[in-house]
Amino acid sequence: MQQELRELYQQVILDHNKAPRNFRKIENPTNYAEGYNPLCGDNVTVYLMIDDNNIIQDISFQGSGCAISKASASLMTSILKGKTVEEAEKLFNKFHDLVTDKLGDNFSVDEFGKLAVFAGVREFPARVKCASLAWHTMLNALHNKNEKVVTE
Ligand code: ZN
Repeated sequence: MQQELRELYQQVILDHNKAPRNFRKIENPTNYAEGYNPLCGDNVTVYLMIDDNNIIQDISFQGSGCAISKASASLMTSILKGKTVEEAEKLFNKFHDLVTDKLGDNFSVDEFGKLAVFAGVREFPARVKCASLAWHTMLNALHNKNEKVVTE
């Protein structure tokens, strides 16, 4: 990984862990789901408020877990607020391709923005689950699947 990205990785994880964004419960959410990563013990609940035009008016999360899972949930919620459901699904796929190394080094940091730092987990398979837990949980919430996401 490029040195620049490595430094940004440290920064983003530290920052979002110290001051997680949207770390609260939404009362009466239109959508929500729970996720659990038994490998690491990460727990997350994602709440969404989606309006009639399929726009994510509000998104938040609660839970406990390692720094990577928390930072990923925090960054995800700050990115998805104001996006459409379709855009959120597209971003899920992009994020998934990034952390599971489908893209190799052929991804643009400009395109991914801060999400690009999660390319850093590719070398650590256990960490991929930490980074993607909130995203899988969000996707389930979008589809109103209320069974718990458990990373295998
Ligand atoms: Zn974890």
